[in-house]
Amino acid sequence: MKIALIPGDGIGPEITQQAVKVLKAVSNKYITEFSFEEVLMGGAAIDKTGLPLPDKTIKVCQESDAVFLGAVGGEKWDNLPGHLRPEAGLLGLRKALGVFANLRPAILFPQLKAASTLKGEVLGDGLDIMVVRELTGGIYFGKRGRAGEGESARAWDTMEYSVAEIKRIARIAFDLAMGRGKKLTSVDKANVLENSRLWRETIIQLAGEYPEVTLEHMYVDNAAMQLVRNPRQFDVIVTGNMFGDILSDEASMLTGSLGMLPSASLGEGNLGLYEPIHGSAPDIAGKDEANPIAAIMSAAMMLRYSGGMEDAAQDIENAVSAVLDKGYRTGDIMEPNMKRIGTGEMGDLISGEIK
Ligand code: NAD
Repeated sequence: MKIALIPGDGIGPEITQQAVKVLKAVSNKYITEFSFEEVLMGGAAIDKTGLPLPDKTIKVCQESDAVFLGAVGGEKWDNLPGHLRPEAGLLGLRKALGVFANLRPAILFPQLKAASTLKGEVLGDGLDIMVVRELTGGIYFGKRGRAGEGESARAWDTMEYSVAEIKRIARIAFDLAMGRGKKLTSVDKANVLENSRLWRETIIQLAGEYPEVTLEHMYVDNAAMQLVRNPRQFDVIVTGNMFGDILSDEASMLTGSLGMLPSASLGEGNLGLYEPIHGSAPDIAGKDEANPIAAIMSAAMMLRYSGGMEDAAQDIENAVSAVLDKGYRTGDIMEPNMKRIGTGEMGDLISGEIK
């Protein structure tokens, strides 16, 4: 498997190094080879080339089987014009790779229940929700404008979805549901929005191809409420760009630990972009304090969705769970009576569990 590596800025390089360690343990176990090519994006790319997303990076990523990203950004580059900021690199890369589906699992390991803001009885024996967000359409990419001045100024953004756009994201969500609990919740605002009515009709039409999946529809306001009231009712959630932006952040915070959560962005082929959901955490960069588990779990998603290596993905997830069982914690998930360790040691222990 050919992997483009973008360590990025802040804690990006430290956590990427731990993910690579774990991938090396997987390659030993399965006698398979991963080749890594490191490329620049974000602040690191701006410092070396003046641009957040150099052409070479795009080319290497497009020619790879998967792209792994640490994190980008930092205060140093905050005052640059929008198109030259590190975030512009990330948006440009998503576009260049054609990734339209953002998969954000909200997984709460039972060992870390205390980290959640929800009560123990609501969480049961942990959480495992997959939020599938449409990433390249909807209101964030619709027609927009502004007119008038002062008190008479107006501004508008339009929300539009085509059947083709809805079908391709829904198919990813139905396929995921088939491999999990076979339940799909489609979130919309069909009581008010015309494009949501088309969304719902299209999903219902597609459901005929997935008779084993139980499909339900939920208005977005209710979904926001149900996520904190009874999150265990959800298996896979599929929704549009803006609703998904909000709900995926809400779902991830149910688990209480930013440093634990991975993500994947997928397109039509096998090529995907894998990254932890957290940022570059400049406050703890270079201090061996960052939790590398989100990055390591992103590597597991990479093997699952771009590599077709389900067993190896599960090995990584089990290794994380085993290390948590033994009481090892980085600072962000530390609890009384546990053993506090650093970024590098966490990477060593997890890769040591893959035999
Ligand atoms: P952040 O996620 O970097 O950090 C928020 C808080 O969580 C900080 O206190 C940080 O120390 C902590 N934290 C984050 N990841 C952690 C980890 N793995 N282990 C332990 N603690 C961790 O968000 P922010 O501070 O708002 O943003 C910092 C920079 O990151 C900004 O420049 C922002 O633009 C960028 N950012 C990048 C991405 C990305 O690369 N995809 C995403 C979000 C933010």
